[in-house]
Amino acid sequence: MRTVVTGGAGFVGSHLVEYLLDQGDDVIVIDDMSTGSPQNLLALRNNPHLRVVTGSILDKGVVNSVVQGSDRVFHLAAAVGVRLIVEEPLTSLRTNIHGTENILDACRDHGARLLLVSTSEIYGKNTADRLHENSDRILGSPLLSRWTYAAAKGIDEAFAHAYWTEFGLEVAIVRLFNTVGPRQTGRYGMVVPNLVGQALRDEPMTVFGDGTQTRCFSYVGDVVPAMVKIAETPEAYGQAYNLGGAEEVSILDLAARIVKVTGSSSEVTLISYEDAYAPGFEDMRRRVPDNTKANNLVGFVPATPLDEIIRRVAASIAADAEATAEADALRLTLVTAPPIPAVSLRRA
Ligand code: UDP
Repeated sequence: MRTVVTGGAGFVGSHLVEYLLDQGDDVIVIDDMSTGSPQNLLALRNNPHLRVVTGSILDKGVVNSVVQGSDRVFHLAAAVGVRLIVEEPLTSLRTNIHGTENILDACRDHGARLLLVSTSEIYGKNTADRLHENSDRILGSPLLSRWTYAAAKGIDEAFAHAYWTEFGLEVAIVRLFNTVGPRQTGRYGMVVPNLVGQALRDEPMTVFGDGTQTRCFSYVGDVVPAMVKIAETPEAYGQAYNLGGAEEVSILDLAARIVKVTGSSSEVTLISYEDAYAPGFEDMRRRVPDNTKANNLVGFVPATPLDEIIRRVAASIAADAEATAEADALRLTLVTAPPIPAVSLRRA
């Protein structure tokens, strides 16, 4: 089976690539390396079944060349991360709408099946007890870039659904809810790697707003196999499935759990949304998934408990910090080592 993973050098993408290679697929990654990084695929660099194409999904030529001859596509490439979305709304709109349209066209033209990876952001400010796939979307002004992102991802889903109904494209949709795990970077605003990194360095932990907003964090290792199973189930075509975590936690409680698990001496600093993001920024007060549909279809259960997720993220950040420190020390040794005396270079 030949599988394309767009955004395969990103956090979730790189875990998916590993999983697909383990299953025996030949995998082609297309990634523009904007938020993804070759570093995420380093452990796989000698795998003969993996090809990495550095390119944009906005480039129709590149998209066609990788989709042609492939059996299926997992479409994860997107402008992601609340900070990035707020700072670069145009990138978010173009990549998420035009890029997805290019993928849909290529899949239709070359007969490839598609899994479109969407997001719980599309539910917006709906604070329902459990968000199910048909829950209403409550979005703020389209002039606030967070809602632009939610709107763009909603349009992606509508496009995908229309390609299913009008062209018979075999496409399923998954909505990820705060997926976390090793290799996720805090650079674009994600809370778990940010707070865990701060805790490991014993720095103040930056909690935005009053910290009472809640989320349900899911482990990437639970989500990826479910994504693949959904993609392989014909009943899923034309449908959307939530994939989220089981435990609802406030961000303040999350910070406390991180302190406990890592044994940190960090304390929490509350930062206003305006200072953290931009004036007028609106957050979701609450986001709780109903995973029943994915559970019924493929037996999805978000099994990894939050403390264990924190432990694994902490281990991965600590290992990265150690590798960076070792590389820095090596550079320092090379720079400061005294030149070899000429005499030792002569033959006796
Ligand atoms: N957040 C925080 N500190 C950070 C980063 C994020 O308190 O350093 C908050 C953020 O305002 C939101 C929650 O944590 O309420 C989850 O943020 P994230 O960006 O991870 O995901 P999303 O907002 O998309 O759920």
